[in-house]
Amino acid sequence: MLVGVPLETAAGETRVAVTPETAKKLKAQGHVIRVQSGAGLAASVTDAAYEAAGAEITDAAGALGADLVLKVRAPSGDELAHVKRGAALVGMLDPFDRAGLERLAAAGLTSFALEAAPRTTRAQSMDVLSSQANIAGYKAVMMAANQYQKFFPMLMTAAGTVKAARVVILGVGVAGLQAIATAKRLGAVIEASDVRPSVKEQVESLGGKFIDVPYETDEEREAAVGVGGYARPMPASWMERQKVEVAKRVAQADVVISTALIPGRPAPTLITEDMVKAMKPGSVIVDIAAGKGPNGGGNCPLTVAGQTVQVHGVNIIGETNLPALVAADASALYARNVLDFLKLVLPKDAAAINVPMDDDIVAACLMTRDGNVTRS
Ligand code: NAD
Repeated sequence: MLVGVPLETAAGETRVAVTPETAKKLKAQGHVIRVQSGAGLAASVTDAAYEAAGAEITDAAGALGADLVLKVRAPSGDELAHVKRGAALVGMLDPFDRAGLERLAAAGLTSFALEAAPRTTRAQSMDVLSSQANIAGYKAVMMAANQYQKFFPMLMTAAGTVKAARVVILGVGVAGLQAIATAKRLGAVIEASDVRPSVKEQVESLGGKFIDVPYETDEEREAAVGVGGYARPMPASWMERQKVEVAKRVAQADVVISTALIPGRPAPTLITEDMVKAMKPGSVIVDIAAGKGPNGGGNCPLTVAGQTVQVHGVNIIGETNLPALVAADASALYARNVLDFLKLVLPKDAAAINVPMDDDIVAACLMTRDGNVTRS
């Protein structure tokens, strides 16, 4: 089958969906790989490296015109104009963007959004949300350390002692756990909050302190367990008590990293303007939920998506694509996720993809087929 790998055109997107490692494996399975010239450059992969792996170098039309197009982000209108009707597409296609899915359906594509894979053991090797959130959590700490004008570790020097930075992590999924681990390696003192009760043990095992907000009603307890591993919106009563506890920690913090998301809903507001006002001058917030909160903010309403702003003396980093800032490793992991997914739909030497709807991962990822949006 002819597999195309275009250069990503979304602003700031540096990742690529296939690396020489995965191109070589696809070629070994009997497929022809056409990579757009320069597609890997921002992720430190040259055309020559793809050629050495057995891929052919082509232009945008050549890559987008393949039978199977492998992408990082959903194609733009310009890109769709080059895609063949009946072709297959795999990428992070934003399953909650109904209008975007309608465009893919209208273009006649069989498309798979990898973000929609279930959070099951079998799907772990193709879990793009995890592979990329892990990177986001790491990079958020790196950006905070870079912005913050003090040390992270405690230091005892001849010139005096420096206190360890206090880092508060809000939302402890994949990104939050990696943020805790990374900040801990740098020597920070860490406290973390999440709605899900299972998180406490994970925070403690990484050497952080869990901000306990006990559940007082059955409604709170049920909401906290979430659904399919994801959080659900918590009742206002719990959110109010969480706010009180979080406010105390945030006022003492040097760095706050917020990662709280609820799939298909706006990200919850966890850091209010009053909390920011109470923070120390020069402290840093990295809002990984930037652009996903109410009115385009993040977990903090003062966050500006895509920018670093200083409000009430606090630096608020609103980077919206942290994995793209670690492009080489983000691409390497993403490309392996893609390759693992393809094992389910692309048989060896096949001339067309297969869509086994009895496979729960394939059924969950399938977004469009035969001109229709299939996602329920
Ligand atoms: P996510 O990116 O959807 O959300 C980040 C975190 O924010 C979650 O931990 C969520 O509980 C938390 N959050 C939401 N509202 C909050 C609030 N008001 N206050 C504080 N925190 C809040 O989450 P994710 O990283 O995708 O992970 C979700 C879950 O799925 C985790 O339990 C993770 O371990 C699990 N998971 C399982 C598998 C698997 O079994 N294969 C794979 C990946 C992730």
